[in-house]
Amino acid sequence: MTSYFISDLHLEPERPAMARGFLELLSDIRGAEALYILGDFFEVWMGDDFDNDFVSQIKQGLRQLSDSGTRIYLMPGNRDFLLGDTFCQQTGATMLEDPTLIDLHGTPLLLMHGDSLCTQDVEYMKLRQMFRSQAWQQEFLSKSLQERIAFARHVRSESQSGQQMKSNDIMDVTPDEVDRCMAEAGVRVMIHGHTHRPADHRWEYQGQAMRRIVLGDWSDTGGWLIRAEDAELTLESFDF
Ligand code: MN
Repeated sequence: MTSYFISDLHLEPERPAMARGFLELLSDIRGAEALYILGDFFEVWMGDDFDNDFVSQIKQGLRQLSDSGTRIYLMPGNRDFLLGDTFCQQTGATMLEDPTLIDLHGTPLLLMHGDSLCTQDVEYMKLRQMFRSQAWQQEFLSKSLQERIAFARHVRSESQSGQQMKSNDIMDVTPDEVDRCMAEAGVRVMIHGHTHRPADHRWEYQGQAMRRIVLGDWSDTGGWLIRAEDAELTLESFDF
């Protein structure tokens, strides 16, 4: 059985070629065991009540895939952390916590978006805690859509937090934090995205062979995925 892992598409209406490439992938993998989307699926997400032609096309593609029998798992990232239950109900997806431990045909596998591993950015880690808190999210989602969009623009273009988000995007993970999370979860294999540094890392930790596969971000001409044939994982780039 084949499963797929992707992340960091940063889908937005301004990049139609990527959206087309994504919808093509969805129809190519129809009937697969599972699709895991590990965060930053959308460039920005203002709440599940936001809808337009672009969003409904993406939702429809996901719905067709889940109707084909493929399970879809969705983990929010630092840009689309407001993805919620309504989006999941509409698309047939299941929400995943960050981190999530899965059993992939007998192999314990830790899934993360990856921003929580970039612990050197202390200011961002504080912001992350705020954005991910239920209280903050409830308050934010109670604002009108217009207010939310204005807030997001403000954060991204002007404020210090916007700068923090940008610098975090180019920051790599803290190796000690990777080891700590993997030891805590009791895994030897981890998959994450976020850093836009696609690679298949192998090293040794306390006498154990460890592996960390980092998904790449998508462009207008192609993307990255991890293909899992049963428990065998391969990082691949592809063109649309
Ligand atoms: Mn990210």
